[in-house]
Formats: sequence, C-alpha cells, structure tokens
Amino acid sequence: MQLAKLHAGPGSRLRDLWLQLAEIAARALEVERVGVWILVDDDRALRCRYLLQFSSQQVFQGAVLRAQDFPSYFQALQQHRTVAADHAPSSSTTSELGPSYLEPLGITSLLDAPIYVGGKVAGVVCHEHIGAPRTWSPAENDFAAAVADTIARVYGEYEHRHAETAVESYQRHLMELHRMEALGRMAAGVAHDFRGIVSIALGFTELIRRVPNLAPQADHYAQRVVDALQRGQSLTQEIMSFGKDDPISPRVLDVGAALSKCSHMFRVLLGNSIRLRVRGSGSVSRVFMDASQFERMMLNLVLNARDAMPSGGGLDIDYEDSVVGDEDDESATYVAVYVKDTGIGMDETTRMNAFKPFFTTKGDRGTGLGLVIVDQIVSRAGGRVKIDSEVGKGTTLQIYLPRIAAAVR
Ligand code: ADP
Ligand code: MG
Repeated sequence: MQLAKLHAGPGSRLRDLWLQLAEIAARALEVERVGVWILVDDDRALRCRYLLQFSSQQVFQGAVLRAQDFPSYFQALQQHRTVAADHAPSSSTTSELGPSYLEPLGITSLLDAPIYVGGKVAGVVCHEHIGAPRTWSPAENDFAAAVADTIARVYGEYEHRHAETAVESYQRHLMELHRMEALGRMAAGVAHDFRGIVSIALGFTELIRRVPNLAPQADHYAQRVVDALQRGQSLTQEIMSFGKDDPISPRVLDVGAALSKCSHMFRVLLGNSIRLRVRGSGSVSRVFMDASQFERMMLNLVLNARDAMPSGGGLDIDYEDSVVGDEDDESATYVAVYVKDTGIGMDETTRMNAFKPFFTTKGDRGTGLGLVIVDQIVSRAGGRVKIDSEVGKGTTLQIYLPRIAAAVR
C-alpha cells in the first residue's frame, strides 16, 4: 500500500507529510475534509493539528473540541477501532456534534479512527463527507484505521521527539489557564462572602440615615459610605461572574455576522464622541467558538477602548484571514480580529501586566479582570491575544482565532 512508503525522513517537513497523507486519504475515501486532531490537556480536549479541505486545498489548524462539550464522541474514541457514522447527525456517538459542527458545514457521514501511540489513544483522524449520506464499507473502515496507524508512526517518530511543537506550547498555556480558573473560583468564593458583609453594612448605613434629627454632616458622611459600599457591591458582583463556570456551547461561527449582531450595542456604549468602524476584508473563514463568549470578549475590548479615549477618538474593528508564524516556525492562517483605538496607549509596565488578574490602572473604577477574561475565552478556542500599543497614540488588541472552515459562500 502507498501508505507504507511515508516516513519522516531527514529534511522532509512534517507538515508536508501530514498533507500528503491527508490528500491520499481524501482521494481514497472520496471525502471532502480530512483532519488530524491530537488529544491535549490530559485528554480533556482535541486540538486540530491539520485539517485539509480537499476541493479548495485549504488547510485549517488550531481549533479545539472539549470533551466536556462532546462527551459521547470522546468516549467512543476510547472504545472503538473506528467510529463510523453513516448518518452522523443522527448517530448516537456523533449526534451531539450536529447543530454546532456537522450541520453548519453540511457534513453528513463521518469515518473517524483513533490514533494509538504507545497503546493509548493520542488523537483521531477524521474523514468528513459532505453530500448525500453514505455507508462505510469494511474495507473503508480498514483503510481509515491504516491511515491512523501511519499517522501514529509519524507522530511517534517525529512529532514526539520534536521539543517545541505547537501542541506542547499550547499545553503550557492551558496549564496557566487552569491556574487562572482556580484563582477565579477562589476569588469568586471570597467575593460571595464579602458581598454578604457589604450588604449588611449597607443596610445599617441606611438605618443610620433614618435616625431622627441626624446632623446634616453625619448624613453627608453616611451617604459617602453608601456610595463606597455600592461600588464594593458591583466589584464583588463582577469578581463573582469572573469565577463562574458558564456552560458554553462552541459552534461554527462567522465572525462578521457575530460582530454585526453586537455593533449596535457597541455604538451605544461608545457614545457620540467616539467614532466606530467595523470592517472585514476579503473572504473570512469561520471559527469554532461560543457566540456569547465571543460577544463577551468583544465587549471587554470595546469598554477598554472607551476608557482609553475619555475625550473621544476612533475605534476600528477589522477582521481578516491572516497568516502568522507559529512557535515551531510553521506558519498558519488564523482569523484575526484587530480592535484599534486612538486612546492613551499603554506604557511598558502596563503592557507587561495587562493580562494579570486584578491589574488595573483605573483605581476604583477598574477590576483588572477584563483582559484576563478575554485571554481565557480566546485560549479556550485555541487562539492567542497580542497587544500593540504606543503611549499617546493608541492601542491595538490583536485576537487570533483558529479556523475550522472556509467562509460562508
Ligand atoms: P480594567 O479595565 O478593569 O482596568 P482590564 O483587564 O480590562 O481591567 O485591563 C487592564 C489594564 O490594561 C487597564 O487598567 C489599562 O491600564 C490597560 N488597558 C487595557 N486596554 C487598554 C486600551 N485599549 N488602551 C489603554 N490601556 C488599556
Ligand atoms: Mg477592562
């Protein structure tokens, strides 16, 4: 078989190997999409290593599927040599992928084979068929398993020894994320108790203000205490919502459509003195993330931009497909969203600390949680955030989200 000839010889690039293999599999099985996904984060998530869309010869990478969101599918990968779904949207193991993944992409049949490395499932190769549903024959099942075994060998021989793979660097970033989430939960617990105390203090202060014949000065001070406590209340509220583990339902998402849904809200928030422009250039691929998380991310960025422009200015939100270099010197295309303001900018110290929880330059008005939330949301989707800023000139927050599929036609 042709597959046996593939090996990661010296000088041959891993990416070329994956793509040759995907190409062979796509032709042999006559499927539109072939993807290799690797288990990361203690098997709690699959991260897309490469996904070839055969007809357009596009390659997508970096998207993340979490076991928490697709439990039956993850379980099936541990139990079967192949997961073959003739009609994927209604099959018991893959139906949970239906509304969020299969249907938006028009995928009808799936033939997936776990990749075993050292006797353990290390990932999966997915063959995705678009068009009339089909029935997978035993020979096709065998072929899919052979593809997975070939990938396992390449993975074992090359990728595993490769010190700085994108997967490992993502792994480190995830650990950081888990630490942050633990911190968030702890802070939320403290904030919850603290909110109770603040409420009682507020109640008593209100009672003080109702004491008969209260000196005007005492009433004035009591009012100040009420104001301060109310600020404390809204701060604790925000910390509590930071630590909350909202259920998220990631899905195939069109960034342009998601942005136009919330740009009216942004206009209202920015007021009259800040001009807003939202613009996509070229055909922009789709990403895989929860729509309300995307909005929450954008909201935080827009509010920061507003705060940075107290006497007005301009906010440009641009999005496009953009090629970026990876840690392991491989370039990949991401959907980039740039949020660019003409505000006060950040100095070196601010830029270095901007993603740290509770770091704020806004005193009482800030919580220092906005960018932490943004980083969490983007990392969950498998992406990255970068800051480009100059004091006095303005700031651009650059969000890079992995692609899951081409633009909507
Ligand atoms: P907060 O907005 O509550 O201060 P964030 O985490 O959203 O917390 O932001 C942290 C800090 O990063 C801000 O206090 C500010 O100093 C800086 N920052 C964030 N976005 C911008 C921006 N667009 N322009 C200038 N500084 C910013
Ligand atoms: Mg903020």
